[in-house]
Amino acid sequence: AKTSGQSVHRFFAADMSVGVAERLRLESDLRWALQRNELVLHYQPQVDIASGRIIGFESLLRWRHPELGMLMPDSFIPLAEESRLILPIGTWVMEEACRQNRAWQHEGLPPLVVAVNLSAVQFHEHDIVSIVARTLAASGLEPCWLELEITEGVVMQEPERVIRVLQELRDLGVRLSIDDFGTGYSSLSYLKRFPIDKIKIDKSFVRDLDRSAGDAAIVRMVIAIAGELEHKVIAEGVETEAQLEFLRQHNCLEYQGYLCSQAVPADKVSHLLGRGS
Ligand code: C2E
Ligand code: CA
Ligand code: CA
Ligand code: CA
Repeated sequence: AKTSGQSVHRFFAADMSVGVAERLRLESDLRWALQRNELVLHYQPQVDIASGRIIGFESLLRWRHPELGMLMPDSFIPLAEESRLILPIGTWVMEEACRQNRAWQHEGLPPLVVAVNLSAVQFHEHDIVSIVARTLAASGLEPCWLELEITEGVVMQEPERVIRVLQELRDLGVRLSIDDFGTGYSSLSYLKRFPIDKIKIDKSFVRDLDRSAGDAAIVRMVIAIAGELEHKVIAEGVETEAQLEFLRQHNCLEYQGYLCSQAVPADKVSHLLGRGS
């Protein structure tokens, strides 16, 4: 009860314009959002820094609320987690991302990795391995084109069990990344044992890269650790050429951020690829 109280608080703090009545209403509306086809995925490019080529997309959930308009995930994911609606919603996100990626392949787009965010609730309360296996089989997508993003918080809760589950997911052939790296409490001794492919540097360290020596040092350190552990590394929240230049000079391989594009609807993806950024 204590943790759910805290996330209610976070919910209010995240969006003060949402009042109590509205919140209750959102929670009951969310129960219908899936059936009514109101949920939609947008896709944000991930760019290979050396070539400037888009090599993948992160799927980001949006809710087209019939009266309130387009809602961003921070205003409803916490609600979905408390009510456990994140379980069916999270499964839908995975199915939709795989279906969409397969559809792009059929259209003849270059092969792309699509990343999906996993909530801690999905990871701990669902049989995530069999859901991923079933989703891949049903979509016909080769596992190597699906990436699962897991936050540090998830991996540190029960590291031994999590390492086993990550290994099983890895055995399916999907890619795994640690999201928001540096904002949680992961211990480096565990990081070494996580069977992951990629570390995502949190955007809070990228934002002030050119002004803060501390943030610059953290980013350099994460890139170095990733290199030592033979993980790929991607920086999030890249908005300026100066940030990109810093990353290039310090051998960060990939980036994601408004400098390339914000997340766009699926039908805008082929345009982004064609533009050859
Ligand atoms: P995240 O996974 O860290 O996703 C990155 C967030 O940063 C996205 O916000 C994205 O739009 C935003 N962003 C991207 N580039 C930039 C930039 O250059 N500057 C700045 N300031 N922001 C940038 P969004 O779409 O509002 O998503 C917020 C969070 O909601 C995500 O953070 C993720 O934790 C969660 N989320 C989104 N989709 C899903 C989902 O399908 N399932 C789950 N469980 N969580 C999701
Ligand atoms: Ca993410
Ligand atoms: Ca992130
Ligand atoms: Ca985040």
